[in-house]
Amino acid sequence: MTIRLFDTMAGAVRDFVPLVPGKVGIYTCGPTVYSQAHVGNFRAFIFGDLLSRYLRYRGYQVTWVMNVTDIDDRIIKGANREGITIGELSEKYRKLLVADMETLGIRTPDVMPKATENIAQQVQLIQILLEKGHAYRTDDGSYFFRISSWPEYGRLARIDPEGMRVGERVEADEYGKDDVRDFALWKGPKPGEPSWDTAIGPGRPGWHIECSAMSMRYLGESFDIHTGGIDLIFPHHTDEIAQSEAATGKKFVNYWLHNAFLQLGTQKMAKSTGNIERVAEIVGRGVSRRALRLALMSAHYRSPLSFGEDSLQAASSAIERLDALMLALAAYRNDCPDDSTLPALLEATRGAFETALDDDLNISPALAALFDLVREVNRRLDARVLSTADAARTAAFIRDLDRVLEIAPEAETSLDADLQRLLDERAAARTARDWAASDRLRVALAERGILVEDTRDGQRWRRTD
Ligand code: AMP
Ligand code: ZN
Repeated sequence: MTIRLFDTMAGAVRDFVPLVPGKVGIYTCGPTVYSQAHVGNFRAFIFGDLLSRYLRYRGYQVTWVMNVTDIDDRIIKGANREGITIGELSEKYRKLLVADMETLGIRTPDVMPKATENIAQQVQLIQILLEKGHAYRTDDGSYFFRISSWPEYGRLARIDPEGMRVGERVEADEYGKDDVRDFALWKGPKPGEPSWDTAIGPGRPGWHIECSAMSMRYLGESFDIHTGGIDLIFPHHTDEIAQSEAATGKKFVNYWLHNAFLQLGTQKMAKSTGNIERVAEIVGRGVSRRALRLALMSAHYRSPLSFGEDSLQAASSAIERLDALMLALAAYRNDCPDDSTLPALLEATRGAFETALDDDLNISPALAALFDLVREVNRRLDARVLSTADAARTAAFIRDLDRVLEIAPEAETSLDADLQRLLDERAAARTARDWAASDRLRVALAERGILVEDTRDGQRWRRTD
């Protein structure tokens, strides 16, 4: 079956056809690193991760690019506030971003370009726009995109350029522009602000131009998929399209995918309202990082996601069920013939999982297929109708689906020697019915992050994360 994706430009679900067979280029608008990202931001990045993971699972060779905005007004203000340079500020928050991404199991994007490392590409794009009559310079050395030169402006956001932005407050530093609707490509130099000396004069890039320049640098003038939160449809993505297509004369992006907001209570989670929670705080409260990932992933990306204790609780208990099953499968031994109906059960699960995700990444039925399997396999383990090989086959199957979800516990086959020795001693103590020693060793292992459980197949262990 073909994968179908909801394209904001078309306003409809479309069959996914890559520009180059077998390959997919994806660009995700990354964060502005002026403070620590909140879990609402991570909903957007986990969506990019899920999309690229699923396309990889489906056999595509994916290039996933996610930029880091490391120059804008908020960065300059933040650096002044903290008394450090913009480079120090953005690097500090970029590192925290990468650490949180790792916590959440977000695969590192293939490229994570910084705006300040792509100044030449942005300047070049502005030069082309100048040559083609789509841009102009103002007295203070700023450059603007001339909206009246681009009749297609606004299609993505379904706005009529004729009526837009009139009456909108004009930024103090944008008084010089010819038309109130025009947007900044480049900001002229100002005292106390960082500035680059370039072929179009000194100054710094605007926000929109960086995404056009970096996406086209790494994915080509036309590429497959661009993602971001719905707040980016206008003006950011609308402006990206205008800049890119006016410069190249080619279609910029084939599929525009936008995620809905994560809400805390009834409000969008946003730094501006202070209504935020961060990854480290939540994990610090003892929520497993995989439960947090699942909670952030569990609603369809185009539906608002209500975040809170209830969603974390539900995700935590789902993760516990999955962990318990993976543990049981690893320890299970039964010397009996294979269960002849297991292959059909696994096939049906895969079919339901793929059908759901093919349908515009419909995550709920995909997760339901996995957790229905968990329940059914638990039943078969209890009834001891599965063989040792069946258990291994089922674990491998779940790990295969987990290439997309990344919520299963890490497969661990070996422990370091000290921990293994403690486990062996505990097994020996149990054989000798020395319960006091066995309990003491259980505590010693727990202190080292190893949780031991006793089952009829012997003791088994997992890491507490
Ligand atoms: P920013 O750092 O504000 O540019 O945001 C980075 C990404 O996070 C953008 O794609 C935003 O659309 C997205 N984003 C911000 N807040 C939320 C939220 N509450 N829910 C979902 N996505 C969000
Ligand atoms: Zn962007």
